[in-house]
Amino acid sequence: MILSCSDSRVPIELLFDVGFGDVFVIRNAGNACTQGSVASIEYGLEALNINLLVVLAHEGCGAIAAACADHLSLSPSLSKLVLHIREELVAGAVPLDPDVAVRRHPVLTARQLIGSSQLVQDRVNSGALLIEPACYTFDHGKIEWMGSTSAD
Ligand SMILES: [Zn+2]
Repeated sequence: MILSCSDSRVPIELLFDVGFGDVFVIRNAGNACTQGSVASIEYGLEALNINLLVVLAHEGCGAIAAACADHLSLSPSLSKLVLHIREELVAGAVPLDPDVAVRRHPVLTARQLIGSSQLVQDRVNSGALLIEPACYTFDHGKIEWMGSTSAD
């Protein structure tokens, strides 16, 4: 399963060369750890017995750029999401530079998913779930893999 940004320039099925029924995809602006994404991931683990989760960020992410910006002029709900991302970045000591943040944020999201769900944590600890943070690059059309995230 894949937690990715909602950005239409990140077409999951095309990037991973998969078809209908092949991948369980959860999307939101900035591929953030939200109650909805945690619940969807737990469904993927329990109902579908999925053993791989890719947290996929991308270059040029508007949500990450907004989280790094000094001033926000967003709707209340979007502000809440963007501020959540900003808090994750600051807590992770990530510079508020969008190019740096898009590569670090999926790692932070992976850690937060583990910390937010006992089910996710148990599956990672037992080796039943591998979480792979990554960043899709438009310039090169490649996916940069950040390394597996453990529960430590
Ligand atoms: Zn994005």
